[in-house]
Amino acid sequence: MDIPITTDLEVIEKVAKEREDENWRFRSYLKGYDTDEVDAIIHRLYEEIAPQIDCQACGNCCRAMHPILKDGDVEHLSAHLGISDDELTKQYLAEDDDGDTTFNAKPCPFLEDNSCSVYEARPKDCRSYPHLHKKDIVCRLMGVVFNCSVCPIVFNVYEQMKQELWFSRGYLEDDD
Ligand code: SF4
Repeated sequence: MDIPITTDLEVIEKVAKEREDENWRFRSYLKGYDTDEVDAIIHRLYEEIAPQIDCQACGNCCRAMHPILKDGDVEHLSAHLGISDDELTKQYLAEDDDGDTTFNAKPCPFLEDNSCSVYEARPKDCRSYPHLHKKDIVCRLMGVVFNCSVCPIVFNVYEQMKQELWFSRGYLEDDD
């Protein structure tokens, strides 16, 4: 049976906010699980849900997130744009509160007509977003919870996980 998918960004943001406490509690619950088991569940749901969502029609991550640039991203992007690393840094980059390099504006300055204008040279962080294919997701659950209000893939994967691992096993609202 197909998993029901929500793609309306307004609904996703509203529901993710309403369920924020619940999402954090589910994160705590998942941290008690075997890491490999959580990876297997998330990877299965990601493979099932991601093809049902058109990232290019969405583009919400490029409007709402600040990707981190590292390990050759700056050089790759400046070469693609035909400008120096210094020029790229001056025009488009900034340091975030953690000292990481990111874009200096939101939405991303390279988002044009809801598409990435530097697609071939986009940072690695953009390429791997929403990161649900990675290992050791249990260590990344904070980012997953934050991304629930931004990315329809993350929202739907997390909701389905709650359904499979929590609600279907008799979880009650007051349980912790
Ligand atoms: S570089 Fe491209 S993919 Fe990355 S945030 Fe900007 S527009 Fe989106």
